[in-house]
Amino acid sequence: MTLKKSQQTAIVHPDYRAPEGFAAFPAVIHHASTVLFKNVAAMRSGEWKDKNAYTYGLHGTPTTFTLEARLAEIEGGDYCLLAPSGLAAIAMVDLGLLRSGDDVLLPDNVYNPNRELGRWLSADYGITARYYDPLIGAGIAELIQPNTRLIWTEAPGSVSMEVPDLPAICKAAHERGVVVALDNTWSAGLALRGFDLGVDIIMQALTKYQSGGSDVLMGAVITRDRALHDKIAGAHMRLGMGVGADDAFLVSRGLPTMRLRFEAHDAAARKLAAWLQARPEISKVLHPAFTDCPGHEFWKRDFTGAGGLFSVIFDEQYTEAQTDRFIDALQLFKIGYSWGGANSLVMPYRIQSMRKDWPNKGQLVRFNVGLEDVHDLIADIEHALEVLQ
Ligand SMILES: *Cc1c(COP(=O)(O)O)cnc(C)c1O
Repeated sequence: MTLKKSQQTAIVHPDYRAPEGFAAFPAVIHHASTVLFKNVAAMRSGEWKDKNAYTYGLHGTPTTFTLEARLAEIEGGDYCLLAPSGLAAIAMVDLGLLRSGDDVLLPDNVYNPNRELGRWLSADYGITARYYDPLIGAGIAELIQPNTRLIWTEAPGSVSMEVPDLPAICKAAHERGVVVALDNTWSAGLALRGFDLGVDIIMQALTKYQSGGSDVLMGAVITRDRALHDKIAGAHMRLGMGVGADDAFLVSRGLPTMRLRFEAHDAAARKLAAWLQARPEISKVLHPAFTDCPGHEFWKRDFTGAGGLFSVIFDEQYTEAQTDRFIDALQLFKIGYSWGGANSLVMPYRIQSMRKDWPNKGQLVRFNVGLEDVHDLIADIEHALEVLQ
């Protein structure tokens, strides 16, 4: 029987269906909170974990499943979970794997909000978070306790840029049954094959190169091991980590051009870093492809490229007030956090207060090299350096 519809019901339940068979390149944006089941049996057999079916908008749509599959492919992983920011992705790993009484190790140069999360878990959740020298390598074995469950790595640390010896850390961890997670945001998954080096979990801030537009926040956690994936998926589900369909679309849209952008950022950053290295105002260039950078040998061994992000240490004769004036004098480099977009950015860090045993005395300034003409960027910096005279 066909139900007769009043006008109001017809507005809510329209008869018109667009023709099937539409095809185009872009990812389709499916907006959904409620997902419809064909009948009660289909609803009852639905499993939120099952990526071959749909149960609720929060647990996935064709838009998010497709983006997850593409990100897993880029990293060489099998499973992927999306989170509303890179930091949310980090939290999802911690809450999926750590319980009260457990211990987590983080590199001393870790992305600062990750450090802050560790401090919070330590203060309020009965978990201990301890910080290790990022260049510790195999020496991490001595820090591993019977209750250590997780070791975070970041390659390189995104402010002070030390490159860790990932295979050595993974070997020591695995011999003691400890899981290793890698924040692989710097290389976008393009220049560092984390799983091949032994890493168990890869986290990406898609906010950076995957988006490329400085207009979306999103994170991802990628795994190869089903049991690990399930644990993190448990946190994903219980915490309600949803991402918006339009945001997922924006990240999908960025992926085909990501390698081209990454290589352009890389080439320009190396030109700029080489130019800065020759300047008398700069005492050190902390770019993993340059020999001044601690862990450069591991970059050479493990990476196939760099990106647009590096830091410099100014000669110690220049005060913070002077380097602040230099930054304020820049015109193309804008002052802002984050990176991976088309616009060049600059940020000073009070690194001495962030790091134990930091060996350099000069001011640290981080550059994110965007997609402007590198000669214009060099001219901008050359002009701004004049304020130091
Ligand atoms: C930006 C960033 C994050 C966090 O990403 P958000 O989306 O900004 O929360 C994590 N790790 C690194 C290395 C980052 O650069």
